[in-house]
Amino acid sequence: MARTLGFGVRGSLLGPWKNRGPQHRGATQPRLIGKNKKKRPTAPSAPQTSIRAGIGNDLHRLIAGRKLILGGVRIPFEKGPAGHSDGDALAHAICDALLGAAALGDIGRHFPNTSRRWRGASSLLFLQRVRKLLEDAGYEIVNVDATVSLERPRLSPHIPRMQKRLAQALGLNPGQVSVKAKTGEGVDAVGCGEAVRADAVALISRESRS
Ligand code: MG
Repeated sequence: MARTLGFGVRGSLLGPWKNRGPQHRGATQPRLIGKNKKKRPTAPSAPQTSIRAGIGNDLHRLIAGRKLILGGVRIPFEKGPAGHSDGDALAHAICDALLGAAALGDIGRHFPNTSRRWRGASSLLFLQRVRKLLEDAGYEIVNVDATVSLERPRLSPHIPRMQKRLAQALGLNPGQVSVKAKTGEGVDAVGCGEAVRADAVALISRESRS
């Protein structure tokens, strides 16, 4: 009975195993070990992409007798930012986001407001220099996203030109630079028209072979 059952089981259940794939047949072959084991050729190492993010913000008081410049664009208004350079809060926030992403310090370290060299300087120059610092460290800028907070005047008509100027300074396409505008809803220094604020985030990348 047991013999009949054993034969019957083999005959009926092993049938589906006849078409087992080559990977299974290989399992019965002796394994090569030690010095007999063939070395597989190693593929060249693939480039590793490192992606880093940075954040920056800036705030300037608005005072009479100063030009209002944001993103390198002159905006007609009766007040402008107090500051050592042109006081472009948007450009400053983007500088800090990019420097922060690369862990290269901040804008005050590279362009101190105690230096006569930067007095009245265009902040687009800061962006060009930050771009060079990142390039020297092997980084590429992926994109920048920024928000300007200002109660008056309305900034939306000026945004395309800001994007273009900022992108030019950074060697990017305008589509890689986003600028948005908000008001302060009548609250705090921005809302009371006493200050302009900007916030920015930047993404950078670097390729290396391990
Ligand atoms: Mg500033």
